[in-house]
Amino acid sequence: MALKETRLAFLPFFISKQKKLNVVIIGGGYAGIAAMTTLLRHAPDSSITLIDPKTHHLKITHLHETFRYPLTDLLVPFTDIEQRYGCRHIPASAHFNAEALQQCQQTQQLLVNDELLYFDYLLIASGCENRTSDHVDNVLSLQDFTDTAGSEFLTQAFVRNYPTEQSISVVGGGATGIQFLFEIKQFLSRIKSKAILRLIHSGDRVLEQFPRGFDTYVQTRMKELDIAFHPNTYYRQQQSTHLLLAEKHTQKQFELTSGLTILLLGKSQRPSFTANAFGQVLVDQKPLPNIFVAGDCSVYQSVGSNTLTAQSAVRKGKLVAHNMLRHSGLPGLLEPYLHPDLGYVVSLGSSDAVGWLGTENALVTGLPALTLKELVEAQYDLLLAGIDTYLV
Ligand SMILES: Cc1cc2nc3c(=O)[nH]c(=O)nc-3n(C[C@H](O)[C@H](O)[C@H](O)COP(=O)(O)OP(=O)(O)OC[C@H]3O[C@@H](n4cnc5c(N)ncnc54)[C@H](O)[C@@H]3O)c2cc1C
Repeated sequence: MALKETRLAFLPFFISKQKKLNVVIIGGGYAGIAAMTTLLRHAPDSSITLIDPKTHHLKITHLHETFRYPLTDLLVPFTDIEQRYGCRHIPASAHFNAEALQQCQQTQQLLVNDELLYFDYLLIASGCENRTSDHVDNVLSLQDFTDTAGSEFLTQAFVRNYPTEQSISVVGGGATGIQFLFEIKQFLSRIKSKAILRLIHSGDRVLEQFPRGFDTYVQTRMKELDIAFHPNTYYRQQQSTHLLLAEKHTQKQFELTSGLTILLLGKSQRPSFTANAFGQVLVDQKPLPNIFVAGDCSVYQSVGSNTLTAQSAVRKGKLVAHNMLRHSGLPGLLEPYLHPDLGYVVSLGSSDAVGWLGTENALVTGLPALTLKELVEAQYDLLLAGIDTYLV
C-alpha cells in the first residue's frame, strides 16, 4: 500500500492545455512559497495571487541569527517575489470560519480589500501565531524580532542604561528559546559584556519535545558558558527592573533582577484547519475539493508529520500544489501526505548545534550538526530562487 502511494508521487500530472489555473494563496511563508514555486514549475501559466499583510517574506528559521547578521538578510520583499514569479501580492489578512470556507467553496470567490478574487483553488497557509504577553517596556517577544534585529535591541538596551548590564533573562527552553539564548551569549561575549544571562523554563529540562540527549548536551554547554538555569519556574511578570517568578511545584513567588526579559513561549493555541490526507480542508468531516491548507495552520488526517516545522510546511506546500494540478486534470488521482520527520537541528550559536537525523536515536552534535542545518537552510534558499532540490 505504502509503495503504491509513493509511486503516485511520480505519476505525471494531467494538465489541461486550455486551462490556466487561478490560485489564491493566503500567507507567503514557507508553505505558501513552496506551493507557489511548485505550481509554477509544473504549470507556468498559472495565475497566482498571494495574500499576506507583510511587505516581505521572512526566512524566520534564521531569526535568532540577527544577533550577528542584519535582519534585512532574512527579508525577501514581496515585490521581488512578484517580479521573479510573475505573481501578484495583495497586502491584506484573510480569516475564515467554517461558514466562510463553505461559501468560498460554493462561489469560488474571495473578497479581499473590496476586490472580488475568483479562484480555481484556494490555499490557506497563514501559519500559527506565537504566544505573546501585554506590552511592557523591557520585555520582548518573538514578534519584536521580526521588526528589529536582536543586536539592535541589545545595543539600545545598553545605551538606555537599562540594568541589562547586570542581567538578561530568556523565558522558554524550547528550540526557539535555546537558539536565542546561545546567540545572545555570543553577542555579549563579542561586546565584552559581563551581564548575567539566564534561562527560565517551566519544565525540569530543556528541549523536552526532543529525544533524550538533547537536554544533557545543551545543559552541559550552558554550564560551560556560565548561563544560569532556572528549571520548573513560571514567569509571572516583569516589574521595572525585576522579574516576578513562581516555583512550579510550590507556587512560591520570588524575584530576580532583570534589565531585559525575552519571552519565547512557543506557539499559541493553533487556530488550525483539519484536512484530509490530500490537504483538502475538512468542514463537518467533508472535504472542500477546491480549498487546501498547508503549514503550521494545518493538521492532516494522515500518517505524515504534522509538526510545526519548516520541513513539514514545505512538504505540505509542495503536496497541495501537486494535488491542485492533479485535481484539475483527473480529480480521482490525488497524492496522499506521507512525509515523515527526517531530522531536526537546534543551533547553539555560530559554531555548535545538536540534532537528530534519520531516526531519533541518531544524535548529531557540533560541526556535523551545524553543517546539516546549513544544508537544510540552503535547500530552502534554492527553492525560493526557483530551484527545487527536495527529493523526499
Ligand atoms: C526562531 C525560529 C527558528 C525556527 N527554526 C526552524 C528550523 O530550524 N527548522 C524547522 O523545520 N522549523 C523551524 N522553525 C519553525 C518554522 O519556521 C515554521 O514551522 C514555518 O515557518 C511554518 O511555515 P508556514 O508557512 O506555515 O508559516 P509562516 O512561515 O509563519 O508563514 C505564514 C505567513 O502567513 C502570513 N499571515 C499570517 N496571518 C495571515 C492572515 N490572516 N492572512 C494572510 N496572511 C497571513 C504571515 O505574514 C506569514 O508570511 C523555526 C521557527 C522560529 C520562530
